[in-house]
Amino acid sequence: MAEVKDPVCAMAVDSHKAAGRSVYQGEAYYFCSDNCKQAFDDQPARYVRTGVRSGAAAGLRTNAGAGRKVSI
Ligand SMILES: [Zn+2]
Repeated sequence: MAEVKDPVCAMAVDSHKAAGRSVYQGEAYYFCSDNCKQAFDDQPARYVRTGVRSGAAAGLRTNAGAGRKVSI
């Protein structure tokens, strides 16, 4: 069992019980529902912020956000 985060709604999802799964840029993402998967598939870049420095725009604190990692 691996708990991952649904990138759309930020809910914790068990990867084995996820309603949907998508691979984007080599990473697998899991979703709590088909709606979340469809939203992700529609605009994956909106939910995945790899290498994008939009901290100021998104109101994210770089250091604070990096602290939480899910160990699989
Ligand atoms: Zn979801």
